[in-house]
Amino acid sequence: MKGVRLTGSRHAELAELPIPSLRKGEVLIKVKVSAVCGSERIDYENGCGYVPGHEFAGEVAETNGYGRIRTGDRVAVNVLCGCGTCYYCKAGLPQFCRSCLICQGGHAQYAVVPGKCCLKLPERMDYETGVLIGGDTLGVAFRAASKLPKDLGKIIMVSGTGPIGLGMILTLKYFGYYVVAVEPNLFRNHFAVSAAGADEVFSSQEAAAERICELTGGMGADAVMECSGNGRAQKHTLKIVKPQGTVVFCGENYSQIEIAPSQDIIHKEVCITGAFYFTENDFHNMCMLYERGFDPIKLVSHRFPLHDAQKAYQCFFEGNTGKVLLTDRA
Ligand SMILES: [Zn+2]
Ligand SMILES: [Zn+2]
Repeated sequence: MKGVRLTGSRHAELAELPIPSLRKGEVLIKVKVSAVCGSERIDYENGCGYVPGHEFAGEVAETNGYGRIRTGDRVAVNVLCGCGTCYYCKAGLPQFCRSCLICQGGHAQYAVVPGKCCLKLPERMDYETGVLIGGDTLGVAFRAASKLPKDLGKIIMVSGTGPIGLGMILTLKYFGYYVVAVEPNLFRNHFAVSAAGADEVFSSQEAAAERICELTGGMGADAVMECSGNGRAQKHTLKIVKPQGTVVFCGENYSQIEIAPSQDIIHKEVCITGAFYFTENDFHNMCMLYERGFDPIKLVSHRFPLHDAQKAYQCFFEGNTGKVLLTDRA
């Protein structure tokens, strides 16, 4: 089969690889669509020893002892593979499992994954939509939106409109919020409105803050969804959120930011939380929204055949895209 190899120095090549063999409980998937994800940047720059791609969907070609999934089933793959026996796995929250692994291998013609990571697609759902809803783009956005309290106001700021920020806007708009987005990149700034449906978009935190003050009589945003991972933007969320508002962090940042506990949290009684991946339950809820008209396909800005993986990576990491898919695998 053909599969992508990342050899380092921003180089992706197509290699002839053996079709992986199945161990007990695993399934072989004939991959139809996979998506390039921002978290693949490190592997793209430094290379990796495995076939990349953790957001993918396809048809089950073979199974080995996992009863719930059959040959011919159309599935997306949940990137998370927990141990299945610990407290969090039993609670349906494998993202907190200490032995949680990430399913890779989607940028190929075939991939082997544990059967328990397969998410069956609803009959009407095409594979491209399956990748978006069954992958972390919409998954993280949906999970973040589900953190918002029911009695929250209407004005939400979305900071950063890469794929997860775009998914966030689309989800929040579906739920009826007024969304003010912030994004300095010109393509993504425009795409936030044209594809995801943001009500307004600004290229700086300051301009967005000014507008939010205007909209809320100086109170601040009811919630801020931080999707950029930029330290300065993350710090700014605490200034722009109203007293008793909610801040949800989704953009990863492994460095530190300074917080003034009194001014930023105590005196405003702000609720700060995060959204880490998504659960099978979140997936089924998103499928229900899809049945009622929630359609994320507009978030795809570029499609490439598998053999153009290099172009897909280059295009995505230059930053002027929405979601980028690898589609045709012939
Ligand atoms: Zn991802
Ligand atoms: Zn576990």
